[in-house]
Amino acid sequence: MYTKESIAELADQVRSFLASRDERFRVPPYLGSGGQETGHAIQLLGGILKYQQEGEWPSDWGDGVIAPISAEREPAFEIRIPRHTSPKRNLFTIAHELGHLFVHMDYGLESYAETIAEGDFRDTMMARSARNATEYEANHFAACLLMPETEFRRVWGERAGDRDAVAEHFGVSIAAATTRGQFLELISWI
Ligand SMILES: [Zn+2]
Repeated sequence: MYTKESIAELADQVRSFLASRDERFRVPPYLGSGGQETGHAIQLLGGILKYQQEGEWPSDWGDGVIAPISAEREPAFEIRIPRHTSPKRNLFTIAHELGHLFVHMDYGLESYAETIAEGDFRDTMMARSARNATEYEANHFAACLLMPETEFRRVWGERAGDRDAVAEHFGVSIAAATTRGQFLELISWI
């Protein structure tokens, strides 16, 4: 059973792991700014990131897909992302898929490429917006990975709650920064 706190801790561990392997990931955006840089982050975690054209993207795949490949060899998992959505939205989706990987697929930094659960997650719009625990947990992991609490509170204060500036700092969308601000009770939900 995961709690909000244990998911935040897991996200911290993943961010520290990446920062220890490549200095580019010591500063935001913590998964790189998309493209090859983000592909490299996924590779360091033992997986592969694939961008697919709109024509090769079935409508039921939604924003992104994570699929296990093999527990014995790399890449151990694959994240598929559509090319036609915005880079900032894609970055959050990639972080969300990593949430499924670490929280729901038994994948771990220590044992990585040794254990991985069967079954993929297809993050259709319906699944993403659904108020179920699995999606909530993956979104929370993504928010914690890309916008760590201590730094978020500091930057929020420095920028006097300017959502655009805060989103810019972390390389995420304004919507993602706003939700994080609400979760941390820096702004109201309405
Ligand atoms: Zn999901």
